[in-house]
Amino acid sequence: MARPKRWKNCLTENLLTMLTVFGVFAGVALGFILKATKSSEWTNREIMYINFPGDLFLRMLKALILPLILSSIVSAIGSLDLNLSGKIGMRSIYYYGTTTICAVILGITLVLIIRPGVVKDTSAFVAQNYIPARNVTTTDTLLDLLRNVFPSNLVQACLANYQTVLTPPKNLTGVTSMYQWDIGHKYTDGMNTLGIVIFGIVMGITIGKMGEQGKPLLDFFNSLAEAMMIITSWVIWISPIGIMFLVASKLLEISDFGALVGTLGWYFMTVILGLTIHGFGTLSVIYFVCTRELPFKALSQMGQVAVTAFGTASSSATLPITIQCLDNMGLDPRITRFVVPIGATINMDGTALYEAIAAIFIAQVRGIQMSLGKVIGVSITATAASIGAAGIPQAGLVTMVMVLDTVGLPAEDVTLILAVDWLLDRFRTTINVVCDALGACIIERMSRGELEVNSRQREETVELAHLSKIET
Ligand code: ASP
Repeated sequence: MARPKRWKNCLTENLLTMLTVFGVFAGVALGFILKATKSSEWTNREIMYINFPGDLFLRMLKALILPLILSSIVSAIGSLDLNLSGKIGMRSIYYYGTTTICAVILGITLVLIIRPGVVKDTSAFVAQNYIPARNVTTTDTLLDLLRNVFPSNLVQACLANYQTVLTPPKNLTGVTSMYQWDIGHKYTDGMNTLGIVIFGIVMGITIGKMGEQGKPLLDFFNSLAEAMMIITSWVIWISPIGIMFLVASKLLEISDFGALVGTLGWYFMTVILGLTIHGFGTLSVIYFVCTRELPFKALSQMGQVAVTAFGTASSSATLPITIQCLDNMGLDPRITRFVVPIGATINMDGTALYEAIAAIFIAQVRGIQMSLGKVIGVSITATAASIGAAGIPQAGLVTMVMVLDTVGLPAEDVTLILAVDWLLDRFRTTINVVCDALGACIIERMSRGELEVNSRQREETVELAHLSKIET
Protein backbone atom coordinates (compact mmCIF):
# COMPACT_ATOMS: atom_id res chain seq x y z
CA MET A 1 0.00 0.00 0.00
CA ALA A 2 2.95 2.27 0.74
CA ARG A 3 4.21 2.15 -2.80
CA PRO A 4 1.35 3.98 -4.62
CA LYS A 5 1.51 6.67 -1.94
CA ARG A 6 5.24 7.15 -2.48
CA TRP A 7 4.63 7.40 -6.21
CA LYS A 8 1.87 9.92 -5.60
CA ASN A 9 4.17 12.05 -3.41
CA CYS A 10 6.91 11.83 -5.98
CA LEU A 11 4.48 12.89 -8.72
CA THR A 12 3.15 15.89 -6.79
CA GLU A 13 6.65 16.98 -5.77
CA ASN A 14 7.88 16.83 -9.34
CA LEU A 15 4.70 17.95 -11.04
CA LEU A 16 5.97 21.42 -11.82
CA THR A 17 9.29 20.15 -13.19
CA MET A 18 7.49 17.63 -15.38
CA LEU A 19 5.10 20.31 -16.63
CA THR A 20 8.04 22.61 -17.41
CA VAL A 21 9.91 19.89 -19.28
CA PHE A 22 6.68 19.22 -21.14
CA GLY A 23 6.55 22.98 -21.85
CA VAL A 24 9.93 22.79 -23.61
CA PHE A 25 8.86 19.88 -25.81
CA ALA A 26 5.48 21.45 -26.48
CA GLY A 27 7.31 24.67 -27.43
CA VAL A 28 9.52 22.80 -29.89
CA ALA A 29 6.48 21.07 -31.39
CA LEU A 30 4.49 24.31 -31.55
CA GLY A 31 7.42 26.13 -33.16
CA PHE A 32 7.82 23.53 -35.91
CA ILE A 33 4.08 23.20 -36.49
CA LEU A 34 3.69 26.98 -36.83
CA LYS A 35 6.68 27.09 -39.15
CA ALA A 36 5.14 24.37 -41.32
CA THR A 37 1.79 26.14 -41.52
CA LYS A 38 3.25 29.15 -43.31
CA SER A 39 5.12 29.05 -46.57
CA SER A 40 6.83 32.43 -46.09
CA GLU A 41 9.01 33.56 -43.16
CA TRP A 42 7.22 34.66 -39.99
CA THR A 43 7.34 38.43 -39.60
CA ASN A 44 8.79 40.11 -36.51
CA ARG A 45 5.33 41.23 -35.44
CA GLU A 46 3.90 37.70 -35.69
CA ILE A 47 6.84 36.33 -33.70
CA MET A 48 6.28 39.03 -31.10
CA TYR A 49 2.66 37.89 -30.67
CA ILE A 50 3.72 34.25 -30.23
CA ASN A 51 6.42 35.33 -27.77
CA PHE A 52 4.05 37.51 -25.77
CA PRO A 53 3.11 35.04 -22.97
CA GLY A 54 6.80 34.11 -22.63
CA ASP A 55 7.73 37.76 -22.51
CA LEU A 56 5.26 38.36 -19.67
CA PHE A 57 6.76 35.45 -17.73
CA LEU A 58 10.29 36.82 -18.24
CA ARG A 59 9.23 40.29 -17.15
CA MET A 60 7.79 38.86 -13.92
CA LEU A 61 11.03 37.03 -13.16
CA LYS A 62 13.16 40.06 -14.03
CA ALA A 63 11.09 42.28 -11.76
CA LEU A 64 12.10 40.08 -8.83
CA ILE A 65 15.85 40.22 -9.50
CA LEU A 66 16.80 43.59 -7.99
CA PRO A 67 14.93 43.32 -4.66
CA LEU A 68 15.85 39.65 -4.42
CA ILE A 69 19.58 40.06 -5.00
CA LEU A 70 19.91 42.95 -2.60
CA SER A 71 17.75 41.55 0.19
CA SER A 72 19.20 38.03 -0.10
CA ILE A 73 22.81 39.09 0.11
CA VAL A 74 22.27 41.61 2.89
CA SER A 75 20.14 39.25 4.99
CA ALA A 76 22.54 36.31 4.53
CA ILE A 77 25.74 38.21 5.32
CA GLY A 78 24.10 40.36 7.99
CA SER A 79 23.02 37.28 9.94
CA LEU A 80 26.48 35.68 9.91
CA ASP A 81 29.39 36.89 12.00
CA LEU A 82 32.21 38.52 10.10
CA ASN A 83 34.58 35.62 10.56
CA LEU A 84 32.10 33.09 9.20
CA SER A 85 30.97 35.21 6.26
CA GLY A 86 34.67 35.66 5.42
CA LYS A 87 35.15 31.87 5.43
CA ILE A 88 32.06 31.27 3.30
CA GLY A 89 33.14 34.04 0.95
CA MET A 90 36.59 32.46 0.55
CA ARG A 91 35.06 29.02 -0.05
CA SER A 92 32.81 30.51 -2.74
CA ILE A 93 35.75 32.23 -4.41
CA TYR A 94 37.77 28.97 -4.39
CA TYR A 95 34.80 27.13 -5.86
CA TYR A 96 34.06 29.72 -8.57
CA GLY A 97 37.76 30.03 -9.40
CA THR A 98 38.40 26.28 -9.59
CA THR A 99 35.33 25.46 -11.67
CA THR A 100 35.89 28.35 -14.11
CA ILE A 101 39.56 27.47 -14.63
CA CYS A 102 38.65 23.78 -15.14
CA ALA A 103 36.00 24.82 -17.70
CA VAL A 104 38.45 27.00 -19.65
CA ILE A 105 41.18 24.32 -19.65
CA LEU A 106 38.65 21.71 -20.80
CA GLY A 107 37.38 23.99 -23.58
CA ILE A 108 40.88 24.77 -24.84
CA THR A 109 41.92 21.09 -24.74
CA LEU A 110 38.85 19.99 -26.69
CA VAL A 111 39.08 22.66 -29.38
CA LEU A 112 42.80 21.99 -29.86
CA ILE A 113 42.21 18.24 -30.16
CA ILE A 114 39.04 18.27 -32.30
CA ARG A 115 40.12 21.30 -34.36
CA PRO A 116 36.60 22.11 -35.64
CA GLY A 117 37.83 25.17 -37.54
CA VAL A 118 40.58 23.43 -39.48
CA VAL A 119 38.88 22.73 -42.82
CA LYS A 120 40.07 22.91 -46.41
CA ASP A 121 37.41 25.29 -47.65
CA THR A 122 36.98 28.12 -45.15
CA SER A 123 34.77 30.08 -47.57
CA ALA A 124 31.86 28.01 -46.21
CA PHE A 125 32.06 30.04 -42.99
CA VAL A 126 30.06 33.15 -43.61
CA ALA A 127 30.02 36.20 -41.41
CA GLN A 128 26.48 37.44 -40.80
CA ASN A 129 25.30 40.98 -40.77
CA TYR A 130 24.82 41.47 -37.07
CA ILE A 131 26.88 44.25 -35.53
CA PRO A 132 27.86 43.61 -31.95
CA ALA A 133 31.18 45.33 -32.67
CA ARG A 134 32.03 48.32 -30.55
CA ASN A 135 35.22 50.32 -30.79
CA VAL A 136 36.83 49.36 -27.55
CA THR A 137 40.14 47.97 -26.30
CA THR A 138 40.60 45.02 -23.92
CA THR A 139 42.05 47.40 -21.32
CA ASP A 140 38.93 49.57 -21.45
CA THR A 141 36.67 46.53 -21.11
CA LEU A 142 38.54 45.40 -17.99
CA LEU A 143 38.53 48.91 -16.53
CA ASP A 144 34.78 49.21 -17.21
CA LEU A 145 34.27 45.96 -15.32
CA LEU A 146 36.04 47.50 -12.30
CA ARG A 147 34.14 50.78 -12.66
CA ASN A 148 30.88 48.86 -12.57
CA VAL A 149 32.02 47.09 -9.39
CA PHE A 150 32.01 50.54 -7.74
CA PRO A 151 28.95 52.38 -9.10
CA SER A 152 29.02 56.09 -8.43
CA ASN A 153 25.26 56.27 -8.09
CA LEU A 154 23.21 53.40 -6.68
CA VAL A 155 19.94 54.44 -8.27
CA GLN A 156 21.64 54.59 -11.64
CA ALA A 157 23.24 51.17 -10.99
CA CYS A 158 19.73 49.73 -10.80
CA LEU A 159 19.14 50.88 -14.36
CA ALA A 160 22.37 51.13 -16.33
CA ASN A 161 25.97 50.05 -16.83
CA TYR A 162 29.01 52.27 -17.40
CA GLN A 163 30.66 51.84 -20.80
CA THR A 164 33.73 53.52 -22.29
CA VAL A 165 33.24 54.98 -25.76
CA LEU A 166 36.24 55.59 -28.01
CA THR A 167 35.92 57.96 -30.94
CA PRO A 168 38.51 58.70 -33.60
CA PRO A 169 40.03 62.18 -33.13
CA LYS A 170 39.26 64.84 -35.76
CA ASN A 171 42.88 64.99 -36.78
CA LEU A 172 44.00 61.44 -37.49
CA THR A 173 47.62 62.23 -38.38
CA GLY A 174 50.00 60.12 -36.34
CA VAL A 175 47.15 58.12 -34.81
CA THR A 176 47.97 54.44 -35.31
CA SER A 177 45.92 52.62 -32.73
CA MET A 178 42.64 52.86 -30.90
CA TYR A 179 44.60 53.58 -27.70
CA GLN A 180 45.14 57.10 -29.08
CA TRP A 181 41.44 57.79 -29.73
CA ASP A 182 39.37 60.22 -27.67
CA ILE A 183 37.90 58.69 -24.51
CA GLY A 184 34.29 59.23 -23.54
CA HIS A 185 31.61 57.17 -21.86
CA LYS A 186 27.91 56.35 -21.87
CA TYR A 187 25.45 54.42 -19.72
CA THR A 188 23.82 51.44 -21.39
CA ASP A 189 20.45 49.96 -20.45
CA GLY A 190 20.41 47.04 -18.02
CA MET A 191 20.98 46.67 -14.28
CA ASN A 192 24.58 46.84 -13.05
CA THR A 193 24.25 43.56 -11.14
CA LEU A 194 27.92 43.47 -10.16
CA GLY A 195 27.67 46.88 -8.48
CA ILE A 196 24.47 45.92 -6.65
CA VAL A 197 26.03 42.65 -5.45
CA ILE A 198 29.11 44.45 -4.09
CA PHE A 199 26.92 47.05 -2.37
CA GLY A 200 24.85 44.21 -0.85
CA ILE A 201 28.01 42.54 0.50
CA VAL A 202 29.28 45.78 2.07
CA MET A 203 25.85 46.54 3.52
CA GLY A 204 25.56 43.00 4.97
CA ILE A 205 28.99 43.22 6.59
CA THR A 206 28.12 46.62 8.08
CA ILE A 207 24.81 45.42 9.50
CA GLY A 208 26.57 42.37 10.96
CA LYS A 209 29.07 44.67 12.70
CA MET A 210 26.39 47.03 14.02
CA GLY A 211 24.85 44.33 16.24
CA GLU A 212 21.62 45.36 18.00
CA GLN A 213 21.62 48.75 16.31
CA GLY A 214 21.49 47.17 12.86
CA LYS A 215 18.70 44.74 13.78
CA PRO A 216 15.78 46.78 12.33
CA LEU A 217 17.58 47.03 9.02
CA LEU A 218 18.38 43.31 9.05
CA ASP A 219 14.76 42.48 9.85
CA PHE A 220 13.67 44.65 6.94
CA PHE A 221 15.94 42.84 4.46
CA ASN A 222 15.01 39.41 5.91
CA SER A 223 11.38 40.22 5.48
CA LEU A 224 11.90 41.57 1.96
CA ALA A 225 13.79 38.40 0.96
CA GLU A 226 10.94 36.26 2.33
CA ALA A 227 8.34 38.33 0.46
CA MET A 228 10.30 37.92 -2.79
CA MET A 229 10.41 34.15 -2.29
CA ILE A 230 6.65 34.03 -1.79
CA ILE A 231 6.12 35.95 -5.03
CA THR A 232 8.57 33.58 -6.74
CA SER A 233 6.54 30.59 -5.56
CA TRP A 234 3.56 32.06 -7.45
CA VAL A 235 5.43 33.08 -10.60
CA ILE A 236 7.10 29.66 -10.86
CA TRP A 237 3.76 28.07 -11.74
CA ILE A 238 3.61 30.09 -14.94
CA SER A 239 6.92 28.65 -16.13
CA PRO A 240 5.54 25.75 -18.22
CA ILE A 241 3.42 28.10 -20.35
CA GLY A 242 6.01 30.89 -20.41
CA ILE A 243 8.81 28.57 -21.46
CA MET A 244 6.66 26.91 -24.10
CA PHE A 245 6.07 30.24 -25.86
CA LEU A 246 9.67 31.41 -25.40
CA VAL A 247 10.95 28.25 -27.09
CA ALA A 248 8.32 28.29 -29.86
CA SER A 249 8.98 31.93 -30.77
CA LYS A 250 12.76 31.37 -30.78
CA LEU A 251 12.31 28.53 -33.26
CA LEU A 252 10.21 30.78 -35.49
CA GLU A 253 12.99 33.38 -35.49
CA ILE A 254 15.59 30.91 -36.70
CA SER A 255 15.69 30.54 -40.44
CA ASP A 256 18.76 28.33 -40.80
CA PHE A 257 18.81 25.10 -38.80
CA GLY A 258 21.29 23.64 -41.28
CA ALA A 259 24.19 25.41 -39.52
CA LEU A 260 23.75 23.10 -36.52
CA VAL A 261 24.82 20.13 -38.60
CA GLY A 262 26.55 21.90 -41.49
CA THR A 263 29.61 24.11 -41.42
CA LEU A 264 29.31 24.91 -37.74
CA GLY A 265 28.38 21.34 -36.80
CA TRP A 266 31.80 20.37 -35.41
CA TYR A 267 32.10 23.62 -33.49
CA PHE A 268 28.59 23.09 -32.08
CA MET A 269 29.42 19.53 -31.06
CA THR A 270 32.72 20.59 -29.44
CA VAL A 271 30.94 23.12 -27.20
CA ILE A 272 28.17 20.63 -26.34
CA LEU A 273 30.75 17.93 -25.54
CA GLY A 274 32.67 20.38 -23.34
CA LEU A 275 29.51 21.46 -21.48
CA THR A 276 28.47 17.83 -20.94
CA ILE A 277 31.89 16.76 -19.63
CA HIS A 278 32.03 19.82 -17.39
CA GLY A 279 28.47 19.44 -16.08
CA PHE A 280 28.45 15.71 -15.47
CA GLY A 281 32.18 15.04 -15.09
CA THR A 282 34.18 17.89 -13.57
CA LEU A 283 31.40 19.27 -11.37
CA SER A 284 30.45 15.77 -10.20
CA VAL A 285 34.05 15.02 -9.22
CA ILE A 286 34.36 18.35 -7.37
CA TYR A 287 31.06 17.63 -5.61
CA PHE A 288 32.20 14.17 -4.61
CA VAL A 289 35.61 15.35 -3.39
CA CYS A 290 34.07 18.09 -1.26
CA THR A 291 31.05 16.24 0.15
CA ARG A 292 31.97 12.53 -0.16
CA GLU A 293 28.58 11.98 -1.78
CA LEU A 294 27.49 11.34 -5.36
CA PRO A 295 25.79 14.39 -6.92
CA PHE A 296 22.95 12.54 -8.64
CA LYS A 297 20.35 13.15 -5.94
CA ALA A 298 21.15 16.87 -5.84
CA LEU A 299 21.18 17.06 -9.66
CA SER A 300 17.83 15.28 -9.92
CA GLN A 301 16.28 17.92 -7.65
CA MET A 302 17.53 20.72 -9.89
CA GLY A 303 15.38 19.84 -12.90
CA GLN A 304 13.21 22.92 -12.59
CA VAL A 305 16.28 25.17 -12.43
CA ALA A 306 17.89 23.55 -15.47
CA VAL A 307 14.75 23.73 -17.60
CA THR A 308 14.09 27.35 -16.67
CA ALA A 309 17.69 28.28 -17.51
CA PHE A 310 17.33 26.51 -20.85
CA GLY A 311 14.00 28.18 -21.59
CA THR A 312 14.99 31.72 -20.61
CA ALA A 313 18.71 31.64 -21.57
CA SER A 314 19.32 33.93 -18.62
CA SER A 315 21.03 33.15 -15.31
CA SER A 316 19.66 36.33 -13.77
CA ALA A 317 16.06 35.54 -14.71
CA THR A 318 16.51 32.01 -13.33
CA LEU A 319 17.91 33.31 -10.02
CA PRO A 320 14.59 33.45 -8.09
CA ILE A 321 13.81 29.88 -9.16
CA THR A 322 17.31 28.66 -8.21
CA ILE A 323 16.95 30.07 -4.69
CA GLN A 324 13.44 28.63 -4.37
CA CYS A 325 14.63 25.19 -5.49
CA LEU A 326 17.55 25.16 -3.04
CA ASP A 327 15.22 26.27 -0.23
CA ASN A 328 12.96 23.33 -1.09
CA MET A 329 15.98 21.02 -0.95
CA GLY A 330 16.40 22.12 2.68
CA LEU A 331 19.62 24.10 2.29
CA ASP A 332 20.45 26.73 4.90
CA PRO A 333 19.08 30.04 3.49
CA ARG A 334 22.12 31.91 4.80
CA ILE A 335 24.22 29.95 2.31
CA THR A 336 21.78 29.94 -0.58
CA ARG A 337 21.18 33.68 -0.39
CA PHE A 338 24.87 34.42 -0.07
CA VAL A 339 26.33 32.06 -2.66
CA VAL A 340 23.71 31.92 -5.42
CA PRO A 341 23.20 35.63 -6.28
CA ILE A 342 26.98 36.18 -6.37
CA GLY A 343 27.42 33.02 -8.44
CA ALA A 344 24.70 34.05 -10.91
CA THR A 345 26.57 37.32 -11.44
CA ILE A 346 30.21 36.26 -11.70
CA ASN A 347 30.41 32.47 -11.96
CA MET A 348 29.66 31.39 -15.52
CA ASP A 349 31.52 28.20 -16.32
CA GLY A 350 29.52 27.41 -19.43
CA THR A 351 30.22 30.87 -20.80
CA ALA A 352 33.96 30.63 -20.00
CA LEU A 353 34.20 27.26 -21.75
CA TYR A 354 32.30 28.55 -24.76
CA GLU A 355 34.37 31.76 -25.03
CA ALA A 356 37.62 29.77 -25.07
CA ILE A 357 36.36 27.29 -27.69
CA ALA A 358 34.77 29.97 -29.87
CA ALA A 359 37.83 32.24 -29.95
CA ILE A 360 40.21 29.41 -30.86
CA PHE A 361 37.71 28.03 -33.39
CA ILE A 362 37.57 31.41 -35.16
CA ALA A 363 41.38 31.61 -35.05
CA GLN A 364 41.51 28.16 -36.72
CA VAL A 365 39.08 29.28 -39.43
CA ARG A 366 41.21 32.37 -40.05
CA GLY A 367 44.38 30.25 -40.17
CA ILE A 368 46.00 31.90 -37.15
CA GLN A 369 48.66 29.82 -35.37
CA MET A 370 48.04 29.42 -31.65
CA SER A 371 51.27 29.95 -29.72
CA LEU A 372 51.46 29.06 -26.02
CA GLY A 373 51.32 32.76 -25.18
CA LYS A 374 48.09 33.15 -27.14
CA VAL A 375 46.54 30.09 -25.47
CA ILE A 376 47.38 31.53 -22.04
CA GLY A 377 45.98 34.90 -23.17
CA VAL A 378 42.74 33.21 -24.26
CA SER A 379 42.45 31.42 -20.88
CA ILE A 380 42.82 34.67 -18.96
CA THR A 381 40.53 36.77 -21.14
CA ALA A 382 37.90 34.01 -21.41
CA THR A 383 37.78 33.91 -17.59
CA ALA A 384 37.49 37.70 -17.39
CA ALA A 385 34.89 37.72 -20.18
CA SER A 386 32.75 35.18 -18.32
CA ILE A 387 32.92 37.27 -15.13
CA GLY A 388 32.00 40.39 -17.06
CA ALA A 389 29.15 38.79 -19.03
CA ALA A 390 25.72 39.77 -17.75
CA GLY A 391 23.30 36.95 -16.95
CA ILE A 392 21.16 37.73 -19.97
CA PRO A 393 20.70 35.99 -23.34
CA GLN A 394 23.80 35.97 -25.55
CA ALA A 395 25.81 38.26 -23.28
CA GLY A 396 28.82 36.01 -23.86
CA LEU A 397 28.79 36.96 -27.52
CA VAL A 398 29.37 40.60 -26.59
CA THR A 399 32.23 40.03 -24.13
CA MET A 400 33.89 37.69 -26.62
CA VAL A 401 35.29 40.73 -28.44
CA MET A 402 37.92 40.87 -25.69
CA VAL A 403 38.97 37.24 -26.20
CA LEU A 404 39.14 37.70 -29.98
CA ASP A 405 41.38 40.71 -29.46
CA THR A 406 43.88 38.47 -27.60
CA VAL A 407 44.19 36.26 -30.67
CA GLY A 408 44.50 39.32 -32.90
CA LEU A 409 41.08 39.00 -34.53
CA PRO A 410 38.59 41.78 -35.25
CA ALA A 411 35.37 42.02 -33.25
CA GLU A 412 33.27 41.45 -36.41
CA ASP A 413 34.49 37.84 -36.58
CA VAL A 414 32.11 37.02 -33.78
CA THR A 415 29.42 36.84 -36.46
CA LEU A 416 30.97 33.63 -37.83
CA ILE A 417 29.43 31.65 -34.97
CA LEU A 418 26.19 33.58 -34.75
CA ALA A 419 24.04 31.01 -36.56
CA VAL A 420 24.24 28.46 -33.73
CA ASP A 421 24.62 30.80 -30.78
CA TRP A 422 20.91 30.91 -29.91
CA LEU A 423 21.01 27.20 -29.02
CA LEU A 424 24.48 27.10 -27.46
CA ASP A 425 23.43 30.02 -25.26
CA ARG A 426 20.67 27.91 -23.74
CA PHE A 427 22.96 24.99 -23.00
CA ARG A 428 25.70 27.14 -21.51
CA THR A 429 23.21 29.05 -19.35
CA THR A 430 21.97 25.71 -17.99
CA ILE A 431 25.53 24.77 -16.97
CA ASN A 432 26.12 28.26 -15.49
CA VAL A 433 23.07 27.92 -13.28
CA VAL A 434 23.52 24.28 -12.29
CA CYS A 435 27.13 25.06 -11.32
CA ASP A 436 25.95 27.82 -8.96
CA ALA A 437 23.33 25.55 -7.41
CA LEU A 438 25.81 22.68 -6.88
CA GLY A 439 28.25 25.22 -5.40
CA ALA A 440 25.65 26.22 -2.82
CA CYS A 441 25.16 22.54 -1.87
CA ILE A 442 28.94 22.02 -1.52
CA ILE A 443 29.56 25.18 0.50
CA GLU A 444 26.63 24.44 2.80
CA ARG A 445 27.97 20.97 3.50
CA MET A 446 31.43 22.35 4.25
CA SER A 447 30.06 25.10 6.52
CA ARG A 448 27.32 23.14 8.32
CA GLY A 449 29.11 22.85 11.69
CA GLU A 450 30.06 26.53 11.75
CA LEU A 451 26.52 27.56 10.80
CA GLU A 452 25.09 25.62 13.73
CA VAL A 453 27.53 27.29 16.15
CA ASN A 454 26.60 30.67 14.65
CA SER A 455 22.86 30.01 15.11
CA ARG A 456 23.42 28.93 18.74
CA GLN A 457 25.46 32.07 19.48
CA ARG A 458 22.77 34.26 17.93
CA GLU A 459 20.06 32.63 20.02
CA GLU A 460 22.14 33.13 23.18
CA THR A 461 22.71 36.81 22.38
CA VAL A 462 18.99 37.35 21.78
CA GLU A 463 18.16 35.58 25.05
CA LEU A 464 20.70 37.66 26.96
CA ALA A 465 19.36 40.88 25.46
CA HIS A 466 15.83 39.79 26.39
CA LEU A 467 16.84 38.97 29.97
CA SER A 468 18.68 42.25 30.47
CA LYS A 469 15.60 44.10 29.18
CA ILE A 470 13.40 42.29 31.76
CA GLU A 471 15.90 43.09 34.55
CA THR A 472 15.91 46.80 33.74
N1 ASP B 1 23.08 33.69 -21.32
C1 ASP B 1 24.15 33.42 -20.39
C2 ASP B 1 23.64 33.51 -18.96
O1 ASP B 1 22.70 34.21 -18.71
C3 ASP B 1 25.33 34.33 -20.59
C4 ASP B 1 26.00 34.01 -21.90
O2 ASP B 1 26.86 33.13 -21.91
O3 ASP B 1 25.65 34.59 -22.91
O4 ASP B 1 24.19 32.88 -18.09
